[in-house]
Amino acid sequence: MKTIYLNKGKDESLRRYHPWVFSGAVKQIDGKLNEGDTVRVVTSDGSFVAVGHWQIGSIAVRVLSFMDEAIDYAFWGRRLRSAYDMRLAIGVAGKSNNGTYRLVHGEGDNLPGLVIDVYGKTAVMQAHSVGMHVCRQTIAQALKEVMGDALESVYYKSETTLPFKAELGQENGFIIGSTLDDVAVENGLRFHIDWLRGQKTGFFVDQRDNRSLVEQYSKGKKVLNMFCYTGGFSVYAMRGGAQLVHSVDSSQKAVDLANANVELNFPGDSRHQAFAEDAFKFLDSIPSASTTSPLTSYDLVILDPPAFAKHRDAVRHAIKGYTKLNARAMEKMPSGSLLFTFSCSQAISKEQFRMAVFTAATLAKRNVRILHQLHQPADHPVNIYHPEGEYLKGLVLYIE
Ligand code: SAH
Repeated sequence: MKTIYLNKGKDESLRRYHPWVFSGAVKQIDGKLNEGDTVRVVTSDGSFVAVGHWQIGSIAVRVLSFMDEAIDYAFWGRRLRSAYDMRLAIGVAGKSNNGTYRLVHGEGDNLPGLVIDVYGKTAVMQAHSVGMHVCRQTIAQALKEVMGDALESVYYKSETTLPFKAELGQENGFIIGSTLDDVAVENGLRFHIDWLRGQKTGFFVDQRDNRSLVEQYSKGKKVLNMFCYTGGFSVYAMRGGAQLVHSVDSSQKAVDLANANVELNFPGDSRHQAFAEDAFKFLDSIPSASTTSPLTSYDLVILDPPAFAKHRDAVRHAIKGYTKLNARAMEKMPSGSLLFTFSCSQAISKEQFRMAVFTAATLAKRNVRILHQLHQPADHPVNIYHPEGEYLKGLVLYIE
């Protein structure tokens, strides 16, 4: 294993178990490194700090362990076992009516750069670092051993998540086994998962609990699911007894998928309709709350847009985007309606998001009460030493 020396004093955040070494902290590299190599990180005078994966970029090392240990098959087995045990302990895994959950959430499971989502007996694995890409086969084998009969196949999907992908030559495909079954079960509802072309690992597993909350509030309601993608919220709203559900997404593929998923759970049910349209255009086409048109009466609206801020520098612009979107929706919502509004931008804090929604309420001149403050579910844990892992936030508002 090669060694990386840190500049004097640059081990401070690592002593507090923060799992990243920034490139500016690196003083010297012992020998020639290849991207994805496992390295030992030591202080300027050579005392051990951590072991991790090295990569070119602002994060130079993602720490795998603060102990001086080998990163081998047994190591991956221990980490994956610990991740799986946690999901079993909280009852997300091993349930008969739910086979969909996140098994590994990067830093939150002490495995920076690795994401694994489970869909029934298939795991979809994503590398966000070159080191995890290099180790993919060993990780998949260790996962199979940990999960035993609960796992039949592992699909690797990292084409869009890795830097320098051309040079790595990876492609999406099965590493272990294979299956033609593309249907996953979440809380008893069924969803087509598009591993090959879908966003993330094919499904937004992180909204499971929030979808259940929508279900609870849907009885008799006219629901608008904006940015619907797979139609997750729509299907839950229908099971909850919604009177009508409209799903909107700018992508025709997403609209087709939402329709297919509604059909899978509620064949021939005419309560649902999906529209391929831009969110702002669609909201503009709804008459304002003060008129008596029947279109004004969506009384439960979900806004779950893509991350508006992918980087720190985009924060100001993103906050404006959230404000505009929420104001536009609030203007159109009738008195006594519910708004579920989300941000999945990691760079936007809970406080910033809440402030954006506050500004929206002011602009729309609406009286608004916060009923719930939502976040990512327990299978997307936050490493206490890595607060950056907190990314999903939501508010449920009562619009007077
Ligand atoms: N709510 C979804 C996830 C949303 S992902 C779920 O629970 O699974 C974000 C979606 O927003 C994507 O499907 C993308 O196609 C869509 N989108 C992006 N920009 C949009 C726009 N301007 N108007 C409408 N949809 C948009």
